Amino acid sequence: MKPAPFEYHRPTSLAATFDLLDRYGDDGRILAGGQSLVPTLNMRLVTPRAVIDINRLPGLDAIRVTPEGLVIGALARHEALEGSALVREHAPLIAAAMPHVGHAAIRTRGTLGGSLALADPAAELPACAVALDATIRVESRRGRRDVAAADFFRGIYTTALGPGEIVTEVVVPRAAPEWRSGFEELARRRGDFALAGLAARVRVAGVAVGEARFVFFGVGTAPVRARGAEAALAGRRADAGALAAAGRALDADLDPPGDIHGSPALRRHLAGVLLSRVIQRLAEDRS
Ligand SMILES: Cc1cc2nc3c(=O)[nH]c(=O)nc-3n(C[C@H](O)[C@H](O)[C@H](O)COP(=O)(O)OP(=O)(O)OC[C@H]3O[C@@H](n4cnc5c(N)ncnc54)[C@H](O)[C@@H]3O)c2cc1C
Repeated sequence: MKPAPFEYHRPTSLAATFDLLDRYGDDGRILAGGQSLVPTLNMRLVTPRAVIDINRLPGLDAIRVTPEGLVIGALARHEALEGSALVREHAPLIAAAMPHVGHAAIRTRGTLGGSLALADPAAELPACAVALDATIRVESRRGRRDVAAADFFRGIYTTALGPGEIVTEVVVPRAAPEWRSGFEELARRRGDFALAGLAARVRVAGVAVGEARFVFFGVGTAPVRARGAEAALAGRRADAGALAAAGRALDADLDPPGDIHGSPALRRHLAGVLLSRVIQRLAEDRS
């Protein structure tokens, strides 16, 4: 199919972008990498009056380290995140997740801001942002607003973005060296959206886990923090007993949906498998 006719705008400044967003309101759609928007336009699932292409906004693809931490522009492509030495050093969780996002061709165009704004519940980057305690910076004619990733994802394809706002940057705070990260996902085929996935970070305290952050994706309407499993592991050695306790707690943390790709029971089982893989790997890394 071909998209319904739309006006096409390619602003070269944020001010001009905000003018267009004000002019079209709900009838204007931001275009970043186009990997999700263009298929929905072609299938006429969305029929905006105007498409506002932000690819010419200067500087929004930068990846840099500042006193705030690692700052990644919304237009940074998935491919750039995958190949960035700064991302590997300061946000290894994102580096580990990137090869799982679609296929290489998709990663050459898809952007960080697009993934976060889309808020697909099975996407990798929203879960990484929550696990990393990232801040999502959004801007509009009214100014700039920082939203904690934990508050940004509100449900299926639903975020805290308000009218006229766009994502401009993501700030990943500096982490102390004791923090380790682990990433796992299960999909039917490499490159598919996840049936279940886990973005994890733990703070190592001697031979024990000081603190843990387990953020699952593909098992809820938004990234799901498994607080029970985190508490079950905190302060313990990551041995078989702790692993079993975390697995039991995980059952209460999750309420996965069923769909044509998998039942709630399957997703619950997969989440348990991912949790034990991540914990075992993190325990091995420490030895
Ligand atoms: C075959 C296939 C497989 C895929 N597999 C995966 C996968 O496994 N995991 C995964 O996470 N993704 C996957 N994707 C999606 C891909 O990662 C997209 O890049 C991503 O979802 C959206 O990013 P984009 O830059 O392409 O955004 P676009 O498609 O341009 O935009 C997506 C939505 O976000 C809005 N938007 C974009 N940028 C901004 C911004 N800065 N501020 C506010 N709103 C904005 C747009 O208006 C639109 O509503 C897949 C896509 C395809 C086609």
